[in-house]
Amino acid sequence: MIDGRFELVGAAGPTHFFEGLTAATLSHGYLFAGPAGVGKKTFALRLAQSLLCVTPKTTLLGYCGTCSGCTRVAGGVHPDLYVAEGQVKIGERDGTGFHVAEEATARDLVRQLSMHSYAGGWRVFVLGDVEFTREAANALLKFFEEPPPQVVLLLTTTAVARLLPTVRSRLVEVTFPLLTNREVATVLEREGVEPDVAAYAAGIAGGSATRARALLGGEGTMRDAAVTWFFETLEGGNPDAAGWAARPTLEEGLEVVKTLTRDWLALSVGGTEVPLLARDQAERIGRLPRRDPLAIARALGALGDAERIARTNVSPALVADLAKMALVATSAAS
Ligand SMILES: [Zn+2]
Repeated sequence: MIDGRFELVGAAGPTHFFEGLTAATLSHGYLFAGPAGVGKKTFALRLAQSLLCVTPKTTLLGYCGTCSGCTRVAGGVHPDLYVAEGQVKIGERDGTGFHVAEEATARDLVRQLSMHSYAGGWRVFVLGDVEFTREAANALLKFFEEPPPQVVLLLTTTAVARLLPTVRSRLVEVTFPLLTNREVATVLEREGVEPDVAAYAAGIAGGSATRARALLGGEGTMRDAAVTWFFETLEGGNPDAAGWAARPTLEEGLEVVKTLTRDWLALSVGGTEVPLLARDQAERIGRLPRRDPLAIARALGALGDAERIARTNVSPALVADLAKMALVATSAAS
């Protein structure tokens, strides 16, 4: 028996909650609810690893980090761990065995749910920010009618209102609060960000590591798509927003657009002396047309409204249209 490790920044409440559970008291389904970038998915994967770790441990929560179960989870190849994000539709695509799917199908999911454990222990399903079609939800409800033993569903969502009530009512809801600025900075530092930069980004990221990463930039096609969309929109073009305005990346994409707008405003007011957040885009922001700073500030407010709307059922394409209108309106006011 060992005391397993369970390292996570933040999420003290959920950690405490699961520490009080045993294999016997664990439910079949949990809904991890909370804003983007506060550790829901990371927690779900660590919980999955805790269940799939084969080293005997004193508590439910915790893993050894070195056994065959842990190694497979860490490598993303554990046959009893199913990870899916995006839409869950029925009959769109088929697959076998473990896979990481952007678009999982309900039929695939249901078959996976009925399969026996490969390692003879738990089977864990991590479904991140999925949007169920009604058929898919019905298929999932069949699982809850007669759940097989040692199967756990872990769903994460930024908007519980988007889940069908029938699915939501079967899940035990666990709320993940915003991170503190210190916690966001710690997450960034562990990813290799310089401490002073991490502290700066954490200070304006509002408790979300995802937002902080979006502020800092870095690689990633979503950010590139949002950056390109922002500049082409302001340069009078009609760019396609599909590269960032999709459900899983919508809020993060909007954050990128807001960051660039904030930098544009800062440059308009303070000239070239002000420090920019999107440092890698400084030159292109400097070449943007001069606009009334008040108009840019209004656009920033409208982007905030779009962000709130993005958390509802409104389609991502419509949210992108709202963002575009906000940016284009700055020219009318000049
Ligand atoms: Zn282990």
